[in-house]
Formats: sequence, C-alpha cells, structure tokens
Amino acid sequence: MIDLHCHSIFSDGALTPEELVKRALQYQVKILSLTDHDTYEGYDSLKKYIKNTDITLIHGIELSVLWRKHELHILGYQLLFDENLVELVSLQNESRVLRAKTIGARLESIGVMDAYEKACLIAGHKRASRLHFAKVLLAEGKVGDLQSAFRRFLGRGKIAYVSSPWINLTDVVSKIKQSGGQAVIAHPLKYGLTRTKLHELIKDFKELGGAGIEVVSGEMSIAPANELAALCVKFDMLASSGSDFHSDKDSRVKLGCQMSLPANCTPIWHNWAQR
Ligand code: AMP
Ligand code: MN
Ligand code: MN
Ligand code: MN
Repeated sequence: MIDLHCHSIFSDGALTPEELVKRALQYQVKILSLTDHDTYEGYDSLKKYIKNTDITLIHGIELSVLWRKHELHILGYQLLFDENLVELVSLQNESRVLRAKTIGARLESIGVMDAYEKACLIAGHKRASRLHFAKVLLAEGKVGDLQSAFRRFLGRGKIAYVSSPWINLTDVVSKIKQSGGQAVIAHPLKYGLTRTKLHELIKDFKELGGAGIEVVSGEMSIAPANELAALCVKFDMLASSGSDFHSDKDSRVKLGCQMSLPANCTPIWHNWAQR
C-alpha cells in the first residue's frame, strides 16, 4: 500500500507521528508521506519512529495556495526541507494564525465566546484550521455535524470564511522545485471549479512546472477517479494517491486504504527509486 496524503496532530489530524507509524504498519503501508497543512514539524518525530521499519518515508507537505481567486491545496513531495521552505512555511504559518484569530472574532460576533482559544485547545497549537473551528461549533451546539459547520459558517462566502494571503501558485511550484520536490494538485474536484476552470488550472500548473494530480484522494468513487486519470493522460501529468486521513472520526478511509489508481495513469512514484 502507498499513502501520500495524511495528517498528524501538527495540523488537523488526531494521531501523533508515532501513532501514524503504528497505523502504517497495521495497514501494510510501504511508502508513506505525511502532508500536514503548511508545516513539516511532524517529521522529526516521524523519522524517529519509522527508522526501524520497512516503510519508505517521502518528505511531503500540503500547502494552502491562491490561484486567481481560488484557494487550493498543493502537495509537495520529495522535498529537502531546506532554507527555501523554512521561510515559506513560516509565512504560511503567520497567515494561518492571523486567519484563525479573525475566524475566532467572526464566530464571537455570533455568540461563540473565545472561539480562537477553544479551537487552539482542540488543535494543541496556535495554527487552528477550519476543521478545529468546525469542532468548536459542534461542541457549542451551533451545528449538528461538521459538514454543516462548513456549509453554514466556515465555507466560502459564509460569515466566518476569511480569505488569507496564501502563497500564489506560481511561487509555490517554484519553491517546491527549488527544494528538489514535485508539486501535485491535491483533490482537484473539491474546489467547486467548472470543468473549463479545472482544465485551465491544470494547464497553468503544468506550464509552471507542476508534476502531477491527486487522482485518488480519500473516499472516492470510480467515475471521478477515472475522470482525473483521463486528465492526467490528456495533460501528461503524473498521478498521485492518498487517503487524506485525519482521524477515525473525521475520515471514512483508513490510512493506506484508498482505492487503487486507474490503470491508464502513471503513478508519481514510478521513478522514485532512481531519485
Ligand atoms: P483549512 O486548511 O484551515 O482551510 O481547513 C480545511 C480543512 O477542513 C480540510 O483540510 C479538511 O480537513 C477539513 N474539512 C472538512 N470538511 C470540509 C469542507 N466541507 N470544506 C473544507 N474543508 C473541510
Ligand atoms: Mn485538513
Ligand atoms: Mn486538502
Ligand atoms: Mn489533506
């Protein structure tokens, strides 16, 4: 099994790196990438626990990015975690903290007191994500489930949606490449883009030097996976695959248990042994 997309307690996942390694062993994941949002802090500990296993660890990250007016997620793989990325990650983290404070203030205006502090408490760090705020809204009885929290409060255009000055697509691809990495568009069907826009995105991304598309991401049915695989073929992009596992509660697909890539696309890991 290969899993190139999952989260730990260093972003909005519930497992520690040690627990992730245990899961990876349990589900026979042989190639693993931890792709926390805008941080690679989990890697020090992850490396320690992965050392005595047969799992190959691929340095990864999931970066929040702006393309035109859209907020996207770009995955970086095979990164050096060098000074290039230190600055980028620290800027992204500043944006995350500022955004989280503003989300907190917006939620206070609708009666959720100390929303930022509560989200940070759930997160265990100051870079609270919208998933943590969704959990606050659930705990406070403002919504009955997490999806409603996004639909009613945290999603684009809603009262607690705050846009952030994320890195732009051009710069992120160039930074990832400078750090020796490969850039991949995460879950391309989750941004509400029209098919025309999605094609424009992939074309732009390819021209900038992007390497691939996440064809299988979390819970997925065959039709969208086939559609994305066809886009890989059309635009000559590599295909990536990951569970996007956050926790047993938040994720339907277990670590490494996402469906297989359609046969007509080339996996991004096809030549990793040579790297
Ligand atoms: P953020 O990165 O802070 O914008 O938070 C986005 C995270 O919230 C995603 O990575 C998911 O973990 C989680 N999430 C869960 N449901 C949704 C949804 N409907 N829309 C956006 N994010 C969601
Ligand atoms: Mn997340
Ligand atoms: Mn994502
Ligand atoms: Mn993710």
